Parts: sequence; structure tokens; C-alpha cells
Amino acid sequence: MTPLAEIITTRIRATGPITLADYMEICLLHPQYGYYSTRDPFGVQGDFTTAPEIHQMFGELCGLALAQAWMDQGRPAPFTLAEPGPGRGTLMADMLRAIGKVPGMVPAAQVALIEASPHLRRIQRDRLGAVTHLDSVEELPHKSLFLMANEFFDALPIRQYQRTPEGWCERMVGLSDSGLRLGLGPVVDLPRQGKPGDVVEECPAAPAIVEAIARRIAAHGGAAILVDYGGWNGYGDTFQALRNHQPEDPLAHPGEADLTAHVDFAPLAAAAIRAGAVASRPIHQGDWLLSLGAAQRADRLAAAGDATATAALRRLTHPDEMGHLFKAMAIWPKGAPPVPGFDALRLHADHA
Ligand code: SAH
Repeated sequence: MTPLAEIITTRIRATGPITLADYMEICLLHPQYGYYSTRDPFGVQGDFTTAPEIHQMFGELCGLALAQAWMDQGRPAPFTLAEPGPGRGTLMADMLRAIGKVPGMVPAAQVALIEASPHLRRIQRDRLGAVTHLDSVEELPHKSLFLMANEFFDALPIRQYQRTPEGWCERMVGLSDSGLRLGLGPVVDLPRQGKPGDVVEECPAAPAIVEAIARRIAAHGGAAILVDYGGWNGYGDTFQALRNHQPEDPLAHPGEADLTAHVDFAPLAAAAIRAGAVASRPIHQGDWLLSLGAAQRADRLAAAGDATATAALRRLTHPDEMGHLFKAMAIWPKGAPPVPGFDALRLHADHA
């Protein structure tokens, strides 16, 4: 048993089954044994590889897209350059290098990282020098905000509901003789259609996070780019665990596997629009990067002797690799030009 399995078992014995959201939060962020609190999970030695860890061109293109939006909006200064869930700090380092080519932009940027793990905060500080760390997006200054998030929303705790003949029941983590086990809570009132066996997910924290970001962008200018795997009006059970690059039962090794769920972009877009900003359609990561010139950038790097650039381009953009699974969505103020590569979403009233 992992130390967290013991802690979770004791808690369930004392107070009953816990929601998947509680389970996920303990597993990822427990101060002593949580997944992100104890390790650097990225890269070949870790459990998973993210786009910025594959190649510098990802962060450079993200940085240039934000830089174009900053110029389009009249170069506001000072402004907040923010990233929630910065991992190793690679994406921010690559963005800063790319925007360093834009006169005046880096001196005007006040870098703010939203990071829950003290362990990863240390790694980010080693990489980036003096940066401001925040506990939540609510702490972001009320000023012009340019923000990039990659694989942040997929780490936020989700809840799941399963349709039974009696109605929707929440899927809960409880106990069996052999350990942790998924079960169903009592019937709850959920205004969703479904047939017995269907599973739906919600990520209760995500819309409030997007609303806080979009409120600042609507009021003070700026732009946000959110990249994650997922879709639109997601459906079904997408809760998953990865350990040593292999999928496994999310209840098998609490604290030792990365737990994620697909991101549903529909409630995120609705939250941005509620906050008074413009949201884009989510588009394929591959299409977005190619529209920003990823292929030309890879060619130039390859010609200059970068032996990894061509394979990295394929990994980031090909439909069979990350190109289609990952989506990109942007947020910008009404009246400003769209963030490069995106166009505005028109939501029907029933989605808003
Ligand atoms: N963006 C990075 C890392 C993604 S992993 C990359 O692309 O490589 C998810 C990141 O989000 C980690 O840094 C993790 O510690 C952080 N994180 C997870 N939940 C969080 C929360 N509730 N608040 C702030 N950061 C969180």
C-alpha cells in the first residue's frame, strides 16, 4: 500500500466514501505524499511528456502568439505574464526567449506563476530566477494579463455521475476487502439527459478559474491561450492514471501516478463569455501550431543542425500524435483583434 492509500483508507473508514474530486486532490496535491508535491514527473524518466518538454518550438510559438496580441493591443505596460501549472518552467523560459525579440515586451512583463506544489515552485525558481508565485488565479493583479496554460486544466479535480434506472448517482471512492473501490452514492438531482450506464463528468473549479482570467482580460486587456487534451461537451468516463508512461487503474497507486481527465472546453468558453470577454472555438493543437509557422520554424532549426526538430514537429502536430487530441482555445477582449490562429466563437444562448 502507498502511504496515501493508507491515509485515504483511514479517512474513508472514519467518514465514508469520498468524491473523485477529493480523491484526485489528495493524490495530486497532498503536501507530503501528493504526486506533484514529491516529484518532477515530466520527461522520459518521468510519467509523461508534455508539449513544451518535447521541443522549444512549442513555447516559442506560444510566446510569439501572445507577443502579437500584446502589440495588437497597443503594447500595454506594465502587464502580467502568467502561467498556471508551469511544471518545470520550460514553457515560460521558451516564451520569454521568444518575446525577448519584441522590443520593450520583456521589460514590461511581470511574470506570475500559479503553482500549488512547493517542490515544483523550487524547480521553476531555479529555471527562471526571481518570479512571483501565486496560490490561485484570484491573486492575479487587476491589470493587463497575457496568460498561457498547457495541461493545467486536465489536472484539476473532477466529479463523475453515472446514470442508473433511478437517476444520476455520483461515483465515489469507497472500500472493499481488497482496497479502494469505486462505488455509487445516492441519487442526485442533475439536469442532464442520459440512459442507464452513461457517465458524465464535471470539473467544478475550472469555470471559476477561467472567469477570473477572462474578467481581467475584459477589463484591462490581454489574452489567454489554453491548451489541453479534451473536446467540446465531453461525454463519458475520461478519468485516467499514467505511471511510467503506462495507463493504469486510477485507484491502484494513489500519489504515485499522474491523474487527469479530458478537459471539456464548452463550460470554459461559456465562463469567458460570461466574464465579458471573447472566446475562440477550440481548434486542434496541430492546426494552430502549423498556422503559426511551426513547419517553417522546424525546417530552419533542422537546417541549422537541430536533429530533433523534424520528429518534434510531427509529434506536436500530426493527427495521429498530439495534433488532434490536444485542443487550443483563446480568450481576448471585445473589440481587439483575435489572438493569432483563432477566430471568435458564437455561442447559442442555450450554451451561454
Ligand atoms: N504546464 C506544464 C506542466 C503540466 S502538469 C507542462 O506543460 O509541462 C500540471 C501542473 O499544474 C503542475 O505544475 C502542477 O503542480 C500544477 N497544478 C496542479 N493542480 C494545481 C492547482 N490546483 N493549482 C495550481 N497548480 C496546480
